[in-house]
Amino acid sequence: MTVRPITIVGHRALERRTRKVREITEDIRTLVADMFETNDAADGAGLAAPQVGSRWRLFIYSCPDAEGIERRGVVINPRLERYGPLELEEDTIEGCLSVPGEGFPTARHRGARVTGIDLEGQEITVEDEGGVLARALQHEVDHLEGSLYLDRLTPALRREALDAITARGWRARGILSWDPRTLEAEDV
Ligand code: ZN
Repeated sequence: MTVRPITIVGHRALERRTRKVREITEDIRTLVADMFETNDAADGAGLAAPQVGSRWRLFIYSCPDAEGIERRGVVINPRLERYGPLELEEDTIEGCLSVPGEGFPTARHRGARVTGIDLEGQEITVEDEGGVLARALQHEVDHLEGSLYLDRLTPALRREALDAITARGWRARGILSWDPRTLEAEDV
C-alpha cells in the first residue's frame, strides 16, 4: 500500500464527474488500499477517488456513526439518498482534506443512505442519521459529482472560505496536491 498525494482545491480532478466502475480490477483494489492508507496518514474521515487524482466513482469512509461506533469501508458506484431536515449548526464544522487546515459550518441533511457495491461486487447499503458518518457520506458523494463542500456554504461563509484559500497561497505557489506523510493539514 502507498500513501498518495491528496489533490488541493483548484486541481482539475476535483471539478470533473467520475466514471462508473465496470469491473473490479487489480488497479481498483490497489487504488482502494492506497486510499485507506492515505486517509489514515491524513487522519481523515473519508476520501473520494478524485482526491487522489482518480476518475473512478468510489469513496472510502472511516469515522463514527450516530451511536459512536467506528465505521470503515468502501462504496463503489454509490447512489445517495438524503433524508430528514437540512441542518446547519454553528459548532458543526465540516472540513476537507482537499482544503487542508480549513473548516466551516456546512448545511447537511440529517440522514444519508448510500447503496453501491463493495470490492467483492456485493450490493451494500451504508446508512447513518445524525452522526459524522451521515455527513461524510454526503460529503464524499459530492466529490464524485465534481463538487466541494465550499459549494454548500452560505454566501457569507463562502466568501470567507475563498479568502482563506487565497491567503493559504496554494494557487499563487502552484501547489495542487500535498503529501500527508510529510505535512500536517494545517501546514500545507
Ligand atoms: Zn472532501
